[in-house]
Amino acid sequence: MINLLSDTATKPTPEMLTAMMQAEVGDDVFGEDPTVNKLEAYVADMFGHEAALFCPSGTMTNQLAIKVHTNALDEVICDHDSHIWHYESAGFAWHSGVRINPVPGSRGKLTADQVEAAIQPAYDWLARTRLVVLENTANRGGGSIYRIAEVDPIFKVCQDNKLSLHLDGARLMNALVATGESPSAWGKRFDSISLCLSKGLGAPVGSVLTGKADFIREARRFRKVMGGGMRQAGYLAAAGLYALHHQVDRLAEDHERAQRLGAVLAEQAYVKQVREIETNIVIFDVQDHLTAEEVLSAYRQNGLIASAFGKRTIRMVTYLGIGDAEIQKASAIIEKGIVV
Ligand SMILES: *Cc1c(COP(=O)(O)O)cnc(C)c1O
Repeated sequence: MINLLSDTATKPTPEMLTAMMQAEVGDDVFGEDPTVNKLEAYVADMFGHEAALFCPSGTMTNQLAIKVHTNALDEVICDHDSHIWHYESAGFAWHSGVRINPVPGSRGKLTADQVEAAIQPAYDWLARTRLVVLENTANRGGGSIYRIAEVDPIFKVCQDNKLSLHLDGARLMNALVATGESPSAWGKRFDSISLCLSKGLGAPVGSVLTGKADFIREARRFRKVMGGGMRQAGYLAAAGLYALHHQVDRLAEDHERAQRLGAVLAEQAYVKQVREIETNIVIFDVQDHLTAEEVLSAYRQNGLIASAFGKRTIRMVTYLGIGDAEIQKASAIIEKGIVV
């Protein structure tokens, strides 16, 4: 079965497993796991931030950022396609007691004008705008990329209005590999960044949150409250360090393979439209007389799985486990298509 459901399907390579087995570990709840400390220092340094926190998931790093940046009854501005709005079980309401203003951007991205227009005036009967969250790459936006030049005017709006700015950088390294922009340039614009190690980077588990020292101190306390204080987590942190040292540049191969899948899809009569492919995510629409489920079921029978992203929309994702041989097989299955 060729699995194009998500880049979370990556499994550790033998080299990564060796690095994990050789990790020096300690009790991280006491701050005494040397490998976790090394990973946190490495990621903080990469973004030019003061401190970092290793967490079990990207949902937790995002939730911690919202928790520490806001007070109850505050409002968070984000794109209406963002992960914190769609895929975190309304955790913002549960953990932080805040409201979200999901602004309809384009391909998962907002403009500075949209952010500025979404800021609430200071009346007692309105929620207090406190935080802006951007996502790069934007998952539901089709793996679309924000450039620094697009972030700068948003950064200025946040500065002018005393709003914190958080980046859901689950796939930030995909964006940086594609643009050549530096992590430190991104660190400079954001109060906090969440980076997933368990997506295209290929680690089995984990995300890192970065920011100022006092921000991370607070996040560390709430991580414990949420049940995310782990003990000998260095075995997992070692996988993250290995990924950051050895598996960043190869993301470019995933992007190239996504382009190849897109080219094959674009030639099929049953495909209405392949949306723009910027990184490792391919989103396409099937013809009006078909449904995504019908096409996916034909694929499945031939040995390919992908996900429905709407009634007539399908998503495919490339990652570490999908090499040239898998792309070739997937292409043949896509060409076989669907018998109606
Ligand atoms: C995957 C993802 C997350 C975090 O997900 P977890 O499964 O909790 O690690 C956050 N934001 C985006 C955009 C993601 O794709």
